[in-house]
Amino acid sequence: MYDIIIVGGGPAGLTAALYAKRAGFSTLLLEGGVLGGQAAATPDIENWPGTRHISGSDFAANLYEQSRALGAELRLEAATALEAEGALRRVSTSAGRYEARCVILANGVKRRKLGVPGEERLAGRGVSYCATCDGNFFRGKEVAVVGGGNTALEDALYLAALCPKVHLIHRRERFTGDAHLVDSVRDVANIRRCMDTRVLEIQGEASVSALRLEGPRGAHILPVSGVFAAVGLIPDNEAFAPPLELDAYGYLQAGCDCRTPLPGVFAAGDTRSKQLRQLVTAAADGATAAFQAGLYLHEMQPV
Ligand SMILES: Cc1cc2nc3c(=O)[nH]c(=O)nc-3n(C[C@H](O)[C@H](O)[C@H](O)COP(=O)(O)OP(=O)(O)OC[C@H]3O[C@@H](n4cnc5c(N)ncnc54)[C@H](O)[C@@H]3O)c2cc1C
Repeated sequence: MYDIIIVGGGPAGLTAALYAKRAGFSTLLLEGGVLGGQAAATPDIENWPGTRHISGSDFAANLYEQSRALGAELRLEAATALEAEGALRRVSTSAGRYEARCVILANGVKRRKLGVPGEERLAGRGVSYCATCDGNFFRGKEVAVVGGGNTALEDALYLAALCPKVHLIHRRERFTGDAHLVDSVRDVANIRRCMDTRVLEIQGEASVSALRLEGPRGAHILPVSGVFAAVGLIPDNEAFAPPLELDAYGYLQAGCDCRTPLPGVFAAGDTRSKQLRQLVTAAADGATAAFQAGLYLHEMQPV
């Protein structure tokens, strides 16, 4: 029986473990993939406040070491179900079933891939899934954004302030994002809209040099230094619903206090409904969720 079980060892979960241990709570951290989460796969981080540059693997290792030194218990197991019985919360994995008075879900998201040749090989070398994260590396260079929803439109606007030209490539005739974003994109001179166009291949040796596209006038090559895939995030929360409810996009419903509608269960980081999914917001959620769990534990009767 733990005070707090944390599901997910990314920036949100590891920060929650750090805060929970410093507040004196017994803590079990379950990680079903790679410790550090998405951050572990990031070659360069330049927007962690107070640190000009750090590799994702060093960032993840530092975070883990900090919570481990405080005594957070870690099991490399994926959570497969959440149950509530009175004030008791249970988390199942393929290896067992664990009980706690609180659960913090910090299981993150996955980034949808384009699924074209060259994408895997050039990931982190011109292929990016996050304009806010990597845009600065492409300052002064010509880039492409692939997608037609709000994220793609926002990414194009963000990059247009850094890059001389942004090619916004969408496979349909119309964007699916909000009208005000579509209007904003149309008004920015250095965003070129390429409708009805598909990416066939990402080309380059050491880094991205061009895209092979198929558009209304057939196949052609577009020279670019970077390509931002903005074709969606994939939340993976079915294991926890029920007892929790998901929003229309599959994210866990929780506000800035990270409390879900189920008392004693909190959602932190990219997995919860929010607008900005970044390291700093994930870590902030981890701290908030652990703090709120502490308040809840002090208020509740012993199980
Ligand atoms: C390529 C890339 C580059 C990025 N670069 C930056 C950057 O430079 N700056 C920035 O601010 N942000 C960046 N981001 C975004 C940032 O990494 C995320 O916003 C942040 O990692 C979210 O943290 P999280 O802990 O909420 O989720 P995640 O990092 O997704 O971690 C969730 C963890 O939970 C685990 N998990 C999932 N399901 C289960 C389960 N059922 N049981 C147990 N464990 C589970 C996963 O294996 C994972 O380790 C980048 C993202 C990517 C993909």
